[in-house]
Amino acid sequence: MREPIPLETENGLYLPELELFLDSRHPRENGFISHAHADHFGRHENILCSEPTAHILKARYNVADERLNPQPFHEPLEVGPYRLQLLPAGHIYGSAMLHVTRKKDRESLLYTGDFKLHRGLTTENPVFRQADTLIMETTFGAPKWIFPGTNEITGMILNFVNQSLEEGAVPALLAYSLGKAQEIQAILAQAGIPALSHPAVAKMTTACREAGCQLPNPLIFDGSLPPGHALICPPNVIRSEEFQAMADLRTAILSGWALDKNAIYRFGVDAAFPLSDHADFPGLLEAVRRVNPRRIITIHGYTREFAAELRRQNYEAWAVDGGDQMELDLQR
Ligand SMILES: [Zn+2]
Repeated sequence: MREPIPLETENGLYLPELELFLDSRHPRENGFISHAHADHFGRHENILCSEPTAHILKARYNVADERLNPQPFHEPLEVGPYRLQLLPAGHIYGSAMLHVTRKKDRESLLYTGDFKLHRGLTTENPVFRQADTLIMETTFGAPKWIFPGTNEITGMILNFVNQSLEEGAVPALLAYSLGKAQEIQAILAQAGIPALSHPAVAKMTTACREAGCQLPNPLIFDGSLPPGHALICPPNVIRSEEFQAMADLRTAILSGWALDKNAIYRFGVDAAFPLSDHADFPGLLEAVRRVNPRRIITIHGYTREFAAELRRQNYEAWAVDGGDQMELDLQR
């Protein structure tokens, strides 16, 4: 049996032989950034990322060009005894997984970052490649998280928007400014419904367009709302005075957490739709099947629960935050 590629997990995810941190939030000398969401970003000296992510990082965080080492998807990158490859993760535009192969014995590792399995209107089709070690996110890694199909979710959202407009109200779709906001813009554009974007959303939409994402130019919301338009804004702005003062606003949150029966109270909205940029529970299991790893490390969300489920399916799996290592040892 080949030795696994060395991985340290005590102080963030670190590949010592490549001197490379994975999605570290602390500034490091060398860091791989899977995508441009804040919880995966650190101001590293040298940033390995996909080409679209490099562009979005510049627009979002003012990252200087000389820190960025953008790589095209699928192209092999030789680093000493290793071969690296970025693969589309399907989470948001530009999101990447990192595949690492040790050339001498072909031992391999795949780090997923955030991912989903179905193709969105604004995301690349995810590509999973076989790896011996799989480090995967498990945000929705419990059996209760099963999202409806994309067409069904789109239908629910468009019904809400059309009904609000017919009743003379303004449908406000609350979506994270990077990722979900572009996806809903594309969904509305496809349905022929004009939409105004909050400036924070428009800035990210413009960055994605410049990075190559096929999207219409965003119409920027400046406080006035022409009839017949929907509004796309980040969830946090809805509590601002400007929005509280608006009459006839109907709000809907777009999030995988919408499946929680208390979602509309939790988010303080009129409706909630489970448009997710993460894989659901069956999707996470499908990803494991496609990668066919010898060992799995789970990160984010239901790490222990999902690792326990994988052990029931005879995989070697443990949560990065520990606590189940003993359970694993006891099974042997
Ligand atoms: Zn993310």
